[in-house]
Amino acid sequence: MTEKPMVLMPEDVQRILGKDAQKNNIMAAKMVAEIVKTTLGPRGMDKMLVSPTNDIIITNDGVTILEEMQIEHPAAKMMVEIARTQEEEVGDGTTTAVMIAGKLLENAEKLLDKKIHPTVITKGYRIAADKSQEILLDLALKITAEDDDILKEIAKTAMTGKGAEDSREKFARIIVKAIKQVENNGKVDLNDIKIEKSKRDGIKDTELIQGIVLDKEKVSYDMPKIVKDAKIALIDFTLEIKNPEIDTKISITSPEQLHDFVIQEELEIKSMVEKIKLSGASVIFCQKGIDDFAQYLLAKEKIYACRRVAKSDMEKIAKATGGKIVSNLNELTPFELGNAGNVEEVKQGENTFTYIKECQNPKALTILIHGGSEHVIDEIKRAIKDGLGDVACTLQSGLIVSGGGAIEIELAKRLREFSQGLSGREQLAVEEFASALEFIPSSLAENAGLDPIDIITELKSRHDSGEKNAGLNLFTNKIENVLEARIIEPLKTKSQALNSASEVSIMILRIDDIISSTGKESLGTGLKQGKEKISPDYGDF
Ligand code: ADP
Ligand code: MG
Repeated sequence: MTEKPMVLMPEDVQRILGKDAQKNNIMAAKMVAEIVKTTLGPRGMDKMLVSPTNDIIITNDGVTILEEMQIEHPAAKMMVEIARTQEEEVGDGTTTAVMIAGKLLENAEKLLDKKIHPTVITKGYRIAADKSQEILLDLALKITAEDDDILKEIAKTAMTGKGAEDSREKFARIIVKAIKQVENNGKVDLNDIKIEKSKRDGIKDTELIQGIVLDKEKVSYDMPKIVKDAKIALIDFTLEIKNPEIDTKISITSPEQLHDFVIQEELEIKSMVEKIKLSGASVIFCQKGIDDFAQYLLAKEKIYACRRVAKSDMEKIAKATGGKIVSNLNELTPFELGNAGNVEEVKQGENTFTYIKECQNPKALTILIHGGSEHVIDEIKRAIKDGLGDVACTLQSGLIVSGGGAIEIELAKRLREFSQGLSGREQLAVEEFASALEFIPSSLAENAGLDPIDIITELKSRHDSGEKNAGLNLFTNKIENVLEARIIEPLKTKSQALNSASEVSIMILRIDDIISSTGKESLGTGLKQGKEKISPDYGDF
């Protein structure tokens, strides 16, 4: 009797084992890091991304680049995930996080080649990651919430190199003011700051609106264009005659009955509008529809109305104006109304907006970015978001660190000192972890056309002689005390970046078997970069 071969998996399942699996994953991760590397820092270059539908994005923002690239390799996708987490948790530092993860893996490869077992490397990395958090906390400086100047500098550092150069000072002022206004007991919800785009005027005219800018026009031409000292009703039900064909089942047997029915519905709408008027409202924002008849009645009462306002915007308007969203008109009293000094319809090219301005102490506001082109505005928006994220997390933790590579060099130095007390092989892993951090200052230098080796050597020697804040100032191209030069960042950008970078690199290093049943050739091709294939050197798969 001949033995049948055992079939465990279908034929189209790709499998990569052992070292090949590791090499394949490391190669993909390294490539991702290389892609974003050239965008790092104030002298980083931009990338132009063209979507399948020919939409163009020009950006310097790590997470945006990676998300638009349609990456398929599973390990590379994990790298993209780091950028996303960083974006969600902090809002800035995405490039840094991805680059460190890539370098950690690249350095791990050196150790693998020296026949050091992956579990030893991951153990060493884990020790190094924990120690790094400790060192970071030790190096961090405390600032107080009143330190507006420092907060502004943090916003400025976050925006450097992102197309906002000429207006950084102004944007930083806007960002700090906005964050401070929506702050609630030291907590900041960035959803309370709306960012709207306007293609009128230039970037310099970007403004902080004490209220909300809605991408909506008033429903009827006959309504007033401007309402001063607006009393605002926020309702989340429809002001419409129910459509008997869709909503209700009624049996109508004669034209009179239909007539009565319509009259009845009209009376209902009339009474609704009457109630709105009685509450004293001069503006209403409705989350649902407003039909022609209701529009006509509202316009007659000189009430400004917008319909189908998004729920998220309704909530923001409520916070900005102090109004309450009501679900039943019987609940609508003057107490539920919000207040704004000015509600106005503004036309800008093809778009029409409703500005709800001059709110008293609004708890939600809008940064209105002006600019001539969509691409420019979008990149400014990303820069401002980075600034907002950084200022928000500084305000929450009160802890900052030095930028320009200073913190990375000092951290690497201290990790190396610490590694001396460890056993041989783990020590090597901690040392590789330390060198991975130097990738940041070295790339900052490289992107600015400076010699990375010279810069790292000088930085190291300055740190060895005790200058723990010596960093690369790319405004002067000199190595100097970056704290004094006010190149500062929130601690969280660095601690979060290190955390997720080490977690992902450890996870990737622990993989020794890739079994892919996607049916797609996602492992061999790695990243989709036109027709180019990566990783031809490793195995046949
Ligand atoms: P990320 O996505 O990681 O935030 P960025 O492109 O925003 O990447 O670059 C951030 C890096 O640039 C940080 O390491 C920061 O310290 C550094 N940086 C910012 N401004 C300067 C400056 N004027 N000189 C030197 N480095 C700077
Ligand atoms: Mg940044």
